Amino acid sequence: MNLDFTMTIDGRAEPGCEQFAVVNPASGEAFAQAPDCTREELDAAVAAARRAAPGWAATPIEERRAALGALAGALAQNVDELMRLLTMEQGKPHADAQADVLGGAHWLAETTKLDIPEHVSEDSEERLAVTRHLPVGVVAAIVPWNFPILLAMFKVAPALLAGCTIVLKPAPTTPLTTLRVGELFRDLLPPGVLNVVSGSDRLGPWLTGHDGIDKVSFTGSTETGRKVMASAAPTLKRVTLELGGNDAAIVLPDVDVEAVAEQLFWAAFRNAGQICIASKRMYVHEDVYEPLKAALVEYAKTVKMGDGAEQGTQVGPVQNEAQYQRVLALIEDARANGYPFVMGGEPSDLPGYFVPITILDNPPEDARIVQEEQFGPVLPLLRFASEEDVVARANASDYGLGASVWSADVERAEALGRRLQAGTVWINETQHLSPLASFGGHKQSGLGSEGGQDGLLEFTVPQTMFVRRRPLGV
Ligand code: NAD
Repeated sequence: MNLDFTMTIDGRAEPGCEQFAVVNPASGEAFAQAPDCTREELDAAVAAARRAAPGWAATPIEERRAALGALAGALAQNVDELMRLLTMEQGKPHADAQADVLGGAHWLAETTKLDIPEHVSEDSEERLAVTRHLPVGVVAAIVPWNFPILLAMFKVAPALLAGCTIVLKPAPTTPLTTLRVGELFRDLLPPGVLNVVSGSDRLGPWLTGHDGIDKVSFTGSTETGRKVMASAAPTLKRVTLELGGNDAAIVLPDVDVEAVAEQLFWAAFRNAGQICIASKRMYVHEDVYEPLKAALVEYAKTVKMGDGAEQGTQVGPVQNEAQYQRVLALIEDARANGYPFVMGGEPSDLPGYFVPITILDNPPEDARIVQEEQFGPVLPLLRFASEEDVVARANASDYGLGASVWSADVERAEALGRRLQAGTVWINETQHLSPLASFGGHKQSGLGSEGGQDGLLEFTVPQTMFVRRRPLGV
């Protein structure tokens, strides 16, 4: 595999004059270098995006749609190489890496079905009043390390369709696949329309603070989201923030335990628990608590953890050392407080950043592992007796990203779901997202949304035109 990577600035390859190392989390060892974008290189990327903005905004929407289709095709055609590279830097199993890339292609292709609306508020003899949505300008798209390609396309697809130009920045620990995607897309768009820059921790604040950026579309932690919002203030940049979550899964007493156990397991542990909308607190009714606990453990014993590049691996490592230390600290806190473990909690004997599947048995509601976002393969199982109690506990969080309710009685589950303070609620499934539906967080899980027409319009600014029909003096 070619392990040379370039940034894409103004449609050209930019190797960068500084580099930083990228680590494979399954081994803990560096295996490639990525460009560490300097201030001058970032200025060049932003300037290129600004130069390209008027032309792209004036390009007919049908041509922009066709461009999205071409980008989707490029991802699909190169999925094999991108999948292998993504597993090397991110750690996820090949099948999940493939889904990340093909999910990005799907997002690009489906976004072409959206339209930018016009609203006529007056159409009289005297006046025509129309509100249109113009592209907001140059977008900084900032992506975390858990789904590098899918989450990048959540931003790239609607921004391009809306007529914006972009400076895209992957996370410092997963830059490579995104850089390769930039190389693949380079000749499919006019120069400067999509710039891809990679860098160490210094780059994010430079980008969000840059005067040449009109809007920041950010996905990452709530803590960083606050900093992004602050850095947008001086020039009143528009922001969309997709932030952290602490999703409750609520399991009602009428479920078929054997049937739901496998789905609930993956709701919590897919991608080694590193999903913003993973089930991070599992509230189980006392009537089914013990059998479900046993079924989860039985299923967990069949799951293979290892290097994502190995055949049969279902759960990979935690993606980077900082997150690995954070997850270990939460486990240590649970141990120090004497909370009972159903399974796991011991160190892994694998190299790299592996944390064995860990399940806690009804820790107290104020435990850190219940209150904080673990973002790793550790799950607290929590017992409840009444719907009132579980709704109150689920909602008693600063987060409000997603939630799920599991029951044989769909109406009852829906009624309960409507009481949950979350941007997305799933009934008898979880983590399903659609490019045609709005996705966003309540409370400190975010601001604005992605997906659907709501998400598309986040890349626009409204302009109302009042046209007086009667000539003046008449
Ligand atoms: P993070 O906030 O540390 O980093 C996210 C991105 O922001 C990275 O590209 C990083 O380089 C950049 N960044 C860091 N500091 C910055 C700053 N001061 N200014 C500008 N950019 C900066 O998040 P992470 O650890 O990479 O990702 C995990 C978090 O992301 C979790 O909290 C997870 O729930 C959340 N997440 C949310 C969604 C969603 O759609 N709501 C999706 C995936 C992940």
